[in-house]
Amino acid sequence: MNTPTAWQNGRWLPARQAASPNFSARSPDETVSLVVLHNISLPPFEYGSPAVEQLFTNQIKPDDNPFFSVIAHLQVSSHFLITRQGEAVQFVSCDDMAYHAGISSFAGREKCNAFSIGIELEGCDFEPFTEMQYQTLHTLLDELCRQYPIQAVTGHQDIAPDRKTDPGHFFDWQRLIEAGFPVEREHQAV
Ligand SMILES: [Zn+2]
Repeated sequence: MNTPTAWQNGRWLPARQAASPNFSARSPDETVSLVVLHNISLPPFEYGSPAVEQLFTNQIKPDDNPFFSVIAHLQVSSHFLITRQGEAVQFVSCDDMAYHAGISSFAGREKCNAFSIGIELEGCDFEPFTEMQYQTLHTLLDELCRQYPIQAVTGHQDIAPDRKTDPGHFFDWQRLIEAGFPVEREHQAV
């Protein structure tokens, strides 16, 4: 899997590919230097529903859940989702900007979407992630670090601390540090 052929046009081919319309081209002089980790579950705290993929592809059905009517208008996306079973799904080419970070800043730079890759872990702030998710995340981070000049891996809660709490207290940063990934958390003690 760790070969150049695992990538095509910013797509990591081992991931199941899905197309989100919510992206824009990166500026040609931009480099991808940051990975931002998130958690998401839809409906909140429920796993295995198609709603996350529907949200990222603008196909969420407002009538399926009261909460969906609140978020159905959002145009959001991430590059990747890792399900509880460890399946990777890719929505946006890493060569393009996904809409995952929102108002944010990292190391003094705002608008992190411009220079980052977003990875959503199916989950919530209140329980641990699965072993299969960590394994897939490790493989994906390895691949991203080979393919792009990644300088840091951080959390959404670190780049938007006033608004966001994901991936949350249960995410095991130490595990990434021990694996040698360049974890940098500006607002949290590691
Ligand atoms: Zn997030």
